[in-house]
Amino acid sequence: MEPNQLYDFLVPGLDEKSTKVEVLATGLPASPGAAVGQIVFTAEEAVKKAGHGAKKNPVILVRAETTPEDIQGMEVAAGILTSRGGMTSHAAVVTRGMGKCCVAGAGDIQVDERAGEMRAKGQVFKEGDWISLDGTSGRVIKGKLNTLEPSAEDADLQKLMSWAEPFRKIGVRANADIPRDAIQARAFGAEGIGLCRTEHMFFAEKRISHMRAMILADNEKDRRTALKKLLPMQRADFIGLFKAMAGLPVTIRLLDPPLHEFLPKREQLMVAIASLPSAGAKEKKALVEEYREYGAKGAGDLKKILPALLARVEELHEFNPMLGHRGCRLGITYPEITEMQARAILEAAVAVDKEGIKTHAEVMIPLTATVKEMANQGAIVRRVAEEVFKEKGRHVHYLVGTMIELPRACLVAGEIAKEAEFFSFGTNDLTQTTFGFSRDDINKVLPTYLAEGILKQDPFAAIDQEGVGELVRIGIERGRKTRPKLEVGICGEHGGEPSSVEFCHRVGMDYVSCSPFRVLTARLAAAQAAASEKLQIDSGRTK
Ligand code: PEP
Ligand code: MG
Repeated sequence: MEPNQLYDFLVPGLDEKSTKVEVLATGLPASPGAAVGQIVFTAEEAVKKAGHGAKKNPVILVRAETTPEDIQGMEVAAGILTSRGGMTSHAAVVTRGMGKCCVAGAGDIQVDERAGEMRAKGQVFKEGDWISLDGTSGRVIKGKLNTLEPSAEDADLQKLMSWAEPFRKIGVRANADIPRDAIQARAFGAEGIGLCRTEHMFFAEKRISHMRAMILADNEKDRRTALKKLLPMQRADFIGLFKAMAGLPVTIRLLDPPLHEFLPKREQLMVAIASLPSAGAKEKKALVEEYREYGAKGAGDLKKILPALLARVEELHEFNPMLGHRGCRLGITYPEITEMQARAILEAAVAVDKEGIKTHAEVMIPLTATVKEMANQGAIVRRVAEEVFKEKGRHVHYLVGTMIELPRACLVAGEIAKEAEFFSFGTNDLTQTTFGFSRDDINKVLPTYLAEGILKQDPFAAIDQEGVGELVRIGIERGRKTRPKLEVGICGEHGGEPSSVEFCHRVGMDYVSCSPFRVLTARLAAAQAAASEKLQIDSGRTK
């Protein structure tokens, strides 16, 4: 059985017999399933138009690409369509986590969010027009098709899994950031959380303004003041996750993305500044509303606030943010961020433990390339942990480890393992940095590379075993030479892709971690990998 079929059973499909099918474009099948809805171009419009309960109205959020700021719109949309991005772009990763249909990197459509239109095949589509998405094949279809409800019967799935499970050797965890997703993942049989991306927590309402205040602070004191406000919110998030997982491992990654992702876009600020002199009362009111959290109380404030904000955004601007001030580099330059997050995690673990619920926290440092980075961040986490245990009079078990997502980290894994108690391979970034392909722009070259046979498959979807996989193998071997009991997993998107799961089994990982809706697929793929290995061994014996 093809393990991906299990995913298809859980999500709706398109009823292609219901109407004539006109394909407007084909993008990447970023998140399987189907979605039918009316086009919206902004997250705000998605929230406004999607409605609730009986008044629920399916919308498709169409964007050039999504950013963490779009999260609320993505939550309410029936499906997501982007014209840019690859299989590990923001839209792809987030929708897969939600079990929501997404077609990403559909290069044949042009999206103009400002004008509120999408062009495809010489036709113009406006807000409110109906489209249908097939996230399994990547097709964007004109009009409103009917959907077919998911066909999985729980009892059948359970029976199938009960046949497969006895073979499985490696664990299956889930990538989940909020208790709702963690609970969903457990229902599919996840044995822990392999990746909680903490940055996703900062975009919820109320928090984002403290996060922005932290970024805009130009001194440590102001930064600490803002972080203090974030601490109780983060602690509450982690309490929710620990409770949902009830003693299973919860791997929490410290802040990873470049900080400018949390601020308004440079171009957006430039346009606002340029439009100020000629803006009418209504436009000024809208701008005041938009920049209220930065201190705008009236139109007069905008003249000062907008240029100051633009100056800070310019300061944070990087030509290559994916290779820039992100990952552990953030925690090293601003140790107070690591301190706050470590405190929130350990205070949460202690609080849950006090309630009689076991916890197993794994604090994960992102994007390390050297053992000294790991030592620097590990020391902060361990110091804060001791402080928390002393203050609370209670001690909980926890681990400190790292993501391995840079080629250098694989090569010096023996050194890094002196400081890291676990490794989790971040194969999204590892693929990006090994090939030098941008994970957000690969769709420009991928179709040609596949057609020419230069690549057999998208390396962001299925692990490139020859290159990236070889680095993983080296990383595991060198890491375990230093620390034989080193726990090793994978949390890149490959963790839910069958051929990659088989690879992870073969190189001796302890677990794979994938989005909740892929947990069944990963469990079956892991069982198949072990079963076929057993068959080979057995047939070897009979010979
Ligand atoms: C990765 O790089 O594989 C990973 C899991 O981290 P992110 O996708 O958040 O960069
Ligand atoms: Mg990464």
